[in-house]
Amino acid sequence: MEKNETRPCTLSAEKEIVAVARKDFPALFDSLWANGFRILGPTLGEGAIVYDELHGVDDLPSGWTDEQDGATYRLKKRSDEALFGYNVGPHAWKKFLFPPKLRLWRAEASNNGLNIIEEKQTEQKFALIGVKACELKAILIQDQVFLGGEYADPIYQNRRKDALLIAVNCTQAGKTCFCVSMNAGPRVESGFDLCLTEVLAEDAHYFIVEIGSEQGAGIMANVPHSNQTQGAEKAIQAIATNTAQQMGRVMDTENIQALLQDNFEHSRWDDVASRCLTCANCTMACPTCFCSTVEDVTDITGDHAERWRQWDSCFTMDFTYMNHGHARASAKSRYRQWMTHKLSTWFDQFGTSGCVGCGRCITWCPVAIDITEEVSAIRANQTGGKPASSSL
Ligand code: SF4
Ligand code: SF4
Repeated sequence: MEKNETRPCTLSAEKEIVAVARKDFPALFDSLWANGFRILGPTLGEGAIVYDELHGVDDLPSGWTDEQDGATYRLKKRSDEALFGYNVGPHAWKKFLFPPKLRLWRAEASNNGLNIIEEKQTEQKFALIGVKACELKAILIQDQVFLGGEYADPIYQNRRKDALLIAVNCTQAGKTCFCVSMNAGPRVESGFDLCLTEVLAEDAHYFIVEIGSEQGAGIMANVPHSNQTQGAEKAIQAIATNTAQQMGRVMDTENIQALLQDNFEHSRWDDVASRCLTCANCTMACPTCFCSTVEDVTDITGDHAERWRQWDSCFTMDFTYMNHGHARASAKSRYRQWMTHKLSTWFDQFGTSGCVGCGRCITWCPVAIDITEEVSAIRANQTGGKPASSSL
C-alpha cells in the first residue's frame, strides 16, 4: 500500500446544507449499513459516554449529558432528548484507528522450520458518528503522525482510508474544554464527510447537515431531507458562538514553544512532579498521544510465539529504558517531556500543536493536574533554565 492513501474529503467551496427531521434520523443509519459501514459512536457504558459500535439510533445517549471538572466526571439527565448533548468523554476515536492492543503476527514451529503468519487486517469500513471539532482536529493530527512521514503505518492507513467522518457541532462546552484557545473548535470547519448540528426548538427537533464530500452526499441521497435551509448557516454560527462562550478553561498560547524551551529548569516542574502519580491516564485519554510498544510472547512449549503492539506512555518508567538505564527516571522529567512535547516540540516534529484543548487530561487525571494551569504558572514567573544534558 502506498503512503498517503487516506481518502481526502472533497470539500466544495460551497458546502451543500440540508435538514433532517429527528423522525428521519434512523434512515442515516440505514444508509450507512446499506453502504457497508460499521457504525461507531457515542453510547452509555462504564458509567460514562463512551465510543462503541452502534446497532441503532437508540444506542445513542439520548437525553444524557455529563458534568466535568478536574478529576471529576458525572453523567446527568438532560431536560430534553438531545442525541449529542454531551461533552467529550474518556474515549478518543484513536481506539478504532490505532487500536490499544493488536497482534501483529504469529509464529508456529513445524518440521519445516518457523512459519510466520501475518495478522489479517480488518476489511470493515468504519463510519465514525459524533466526531466533535477538537476530535476531528486530533484525527487530522494523527494522520500527520501515522501517514505524513516517509513511512506510513499500515494498520492506521488501512483503517483510516475508508473511514467516513460524521462530525457534530458542540452545542455546549464543559468545564475542562479549551478548544477555542487551541484553534480547534467549537465549530467544525472542514475535514468531514457530513457535519450535523442538532437543533432542539420548542416544537421541533432536527439536524442541519453540512455535506463535505461526495461520499457524504451519496449517504444522504438515501436519507429523507429538506433543502429548505434558509438561515441554517446563521443558526450554526449562533450555536458555535454560544458554545465558545462556555469554555471552562483558557490557555494563553502566545509564544508557547519558546516559553517551554526557555523554562526547562523552572521550579514548577518539581511542583507538578510532587503531585503527578505517573499513572499515564492523561496519555491514554488524549486523542493525539500515539506512543506504543511491542511485546513478544511465547507459549510454554516454545512452538508458538506472537508479537503484540499496545499503547504505551511517556509516563511509564520502561518507555525510555535503554542499555544504560532509564532515560527519564524522575516524574519531573516525564511530566516535563509530555507537556513540552504536546505544546512545543510537536510543532518541530509535525508542524502543529499536539493539543486540541479537549480537556480529557484534566478530567481524567486522578489528582486534577491541569495543563492550562501548569502553563499559566510557568508563564507568570519565568525563571528560565535551558536544558542541561544531565537533566533530560
Ligand atoms: S498528570 Fe495526572 S493523569 Fe497524567 S500521569 Fe500525572 S497523575 Fe496521571
Ligand atoms: S493534552 Fe489534554 S487537552 Fe490537549 S488534546 Fe491531549 S487530552 Fe486533550
